[in-house]
Amino acid sequence: MSVEKSKDIIVFQHPGEIFERPNFDGDASIPVDQFESFVGVFVFQDKMICQVNRNGKHCHQKHQHGWVFRRSDGVEVIVGCDCAKNHFGADKRFRMQLNHANEAYYRVIYSRKLEQYRHLGGHVASQVNMELERLSSMWRQRERIAGYFNNYVISRIINMEKTARRQVVIKVGYIEKDEDGKEKREWINQDFGRLRHTAIFNDHLYAQFRKRLGKSLTSWHESVAAGSSPKVSDMKRWVRHFDDIANCVSELDEFERNLDGFCSLENVSILCAMTRNNDYRRKIAELQFFPENRSFTNKQISEFLDTVEQGILERTHGREYRLAG
Ligand SMILES: [Zn+2]
Repeated sequence: MSVEKSKDIIVFQHPGEIFERPNFDGDASIPVDQFESFVGVFVFQDKMICQVNRNGKHCHQKHQHGWVFRRSDGVEVIVGCDCAKNHFGADKRFRMQLNHANEAYYRVIYSRKLEQYRHLGGHVASQVNMELERLSSMWRQRERIAGYFNNYVISRIINMEKTARRQVVIKVGYIEKDEDGKEKREWINQDFGRLRHTAIFNDHLYAQFRKRLGKSLTSWHESVAAGSSPKVSDMKRWVRHFDDIANCVSELDEFERNLDGFCSLENVSILCAMTRNNDYRRKIAELQFFPENRSFTNKQISEFLDTVEQGILERTHGREYRLAG
């Protein structure tokens, strides 16, 4: 059985390693004044029963995190983390040992995790580079999509993403007669639909992904360059950034789906309704065939624009309308 040691503090890997110690007694208890020394620390899946005795009362609380103490008569017992902190924490020497124990424990935990990542070899770095490349490619596609719009539409989309108000509204003109019989035009808002997947126009999201992936890559280079016994705080940071790679990958998968979603038929018809310029409308209608390697005919575009116009007509009943926002 492997007991990993560091600076005389044992970091127990398994309950059996405590039970098999000759001086350990699971039936004994430890009053606060009988503390002699500190044997080791454990963090287990199984909960261990605390053997502290305070004013004649046994603690009996179960803990996954705790310590093994030696009594003044040499008997060893288990003390849960809370009791150790609350009733033994005042002892300065003990606190130093605790810090050692914690450091030893986390060194074991993080070494193990880093070992797993190291086992993957250059895979970590190449995966991060691959994801960075994917992000750049998404950015380039986003820029190509932006090329389909005029300034008005693009600024409306960016504003929608900023304000999270993605409703496209058209203003329909109604002519009313006032009391004197004079004609008065009123503009009434009509919802045309909600634009979706505008996240691809959120520059902040690209920057965040780039930052997270960059940190993982830096951590990788640091961990490779580090000596045999790096600082625990460094190991912790590296592990955190390596663990984040998997999150980045799945979040990027999700983010990437917005590119297709943005060019969906439903979205493209809403986008077409955001301009009244026919040339621009034609251009936007082509977005449903993005990326550009898919072929389409002029007839397809015209038919599509007819259905868009039909949708507008349903909402305006032939009345004059203008764009809102
Ligand atoms: Zn306790």
